[in-house]
Amino acid sequence: MPDYDYDLFVIGAGSGGTRAARVAAAHGAKVAVAEEYRVGGTCVIRGCVPKKLLVYGAHFAEDLRDARHFGWDVPSDCAFDWQRLRDNVLREVDRINGAYTHTLENAGAEIIHQRATVSGPNEVTLGDGTTRSAKTILIAVGAHPAVPSCPGHEHGITSNEAFHLDALPKRVLIAGAGYIANEFAGVFHQLGAHVILMNRTKEILRGYDLQIRDRLLQISMMKGLEFRFDATFEGIEKMDDGCLKVSMSGHEPAIVDLVMFATGRRPNTAGLGLESAGVELDEQGAVKVDDDNRSTCPSIFAVGDVTNRIQLTPIAIREGQAFADRLYGGKDTRVDYDNVPSAVFSHPPIAGVGLTESQARQQLGSVKVYSSDFRPMKNVLAGRDERALYKMVCDGETDRVVGIHMIGPDVPEIIQAAAVAVKAGLTKAQFDATVALHPTMAEELVLLR
Ligand code: NDP
Repeated sequence: MPDYDYDLFVIGAGSGGTRAARVAAAHGAKVAVAEEYRVGGTCVIRGCVPKKLLVYGAHFAEDLRDARHFGWDVPSDCAFDWQRLRDNVLREVDRINGAYTHTLENAGAEIIHQRATVSGPNEVTLGDGTTRSAKTILIAVGAHPAVPSCPGHEHGITSNEAFHLDALPKRVLIAGAGYIANEFAGVFHQLGAHVILMNRTKEILRGYDLQIRDRLLQISMMKGLEFRFDATFEGIEKMDDGCLKVSMSGHEPAIVDLVMFATGRRPNTAGLGLESAGVELDEQGAVKVDDDNRSTCPSIFAVGDVTNRIQLTPIAIREGQAFADRLYGGKDTRVDYDNVPSAVFSHPPIAGVGLTESQARQQLGSVKVYSSDFRPMKNVLAGRDERALYKMVCDGETDRVVGIHMIGPDVPEIIQAAAVAVKAGLTKAQFDATVALHPTMAEELVLLR
């Protein structure tokens, strides 16, 4: 049997790679993990974590306004300091980056701070030109923001740069209408910018329940966000005064201070040498894998966003855990992709689990939908005219709850618990049998008639 430098060589220390490396090392494997940038990956360094902290920071704009209705004297010239928020967020990112690094080191995995590329089924080449051999290679290199190729696209930024802005822009145009676009639209708007969301189609947040995303669109427009639909970029021009002029099909040009692309993310496989090992990619450049995350090269596996299935951190973590448990822990585990809850941290947030109403109508013989359209108590006192909407989608024959979809304050927190019930296959009658916890918003879930 050949003698390898490592049992496992992981390329990429993001959520999936870190979990796989740590668990494999804990099972006794000799593990190295190469990372060309910072340990933690997209989620920790330039994704979920800093984004959620910005969302918290932005939400104070509404909270401070609402606080007056609850008796607090909030001065009208209440100032906001972007640099302070930005620097505190980046400091927290540094702390978690350090924690991830310690976790890997404590587990006994060697961290190699260099880019690594594949140079054979069992070999990687490091940035310094040296090679390492490994019995198994795990590709966990994630994805990067895709930027449409229009003249002047270099004047725009992506979410990667949004966390490092020197100053808050007064006018922002965000391209795309998915997760990142809606989350950052909320942040910039709350922090005082005029936001234009521009999308190539008429739809926002494709994949979420239609009524829920319509409600987000309606609330966002009510708050003053501007939407430009069926628009494609014709060009971005930098004006003499530093502003950006964005020309687009079907609409007047927009003059803004910042353009941000949030038009999807593509796997980081370019230049990774995967062809040298016969690893097949799909048309998006994603590594094709089987149910065990094995690529078309038997010694090379892939987890997380680089496989372009469900681009969510908890999925990458589960895939990394299952991979390591199966190969090094003797466990026969696989990831179950059914009923994965998700949320968009927009203002207000939306969240969902299971089938949307239209998916259920396509897949099931009969469907029953229950909904509650209400103004949360807190919004009523605050004089805030924003209604929450909860929907429960049930199999009409079995009464089983097959989907829950929500928009309103704190719904990501609520859906996590509700997802347990959906995953467990509970029926509407079982929801109804649970006594409401009053007064909460979540009680609506057991009061749907
Ligand atoms: P999304 O896939 O959510 O949205 C992409 C948007 O860009 C859509 O509106 C899409 O339009 C549009 N678009 C796609 N390609 C082009 C193109 N070539 N030109 C113009 N517009 C285009 O991607 P995001 O970038 O927002 O986020 C990437 C992924 O990261 C998400 O899918 C999600 O999995 C993950 N993520 C998760 C978060 C969370 O869990 N809260 C937060 C942020 C990201 P159309 O709909 O018409 O195709």
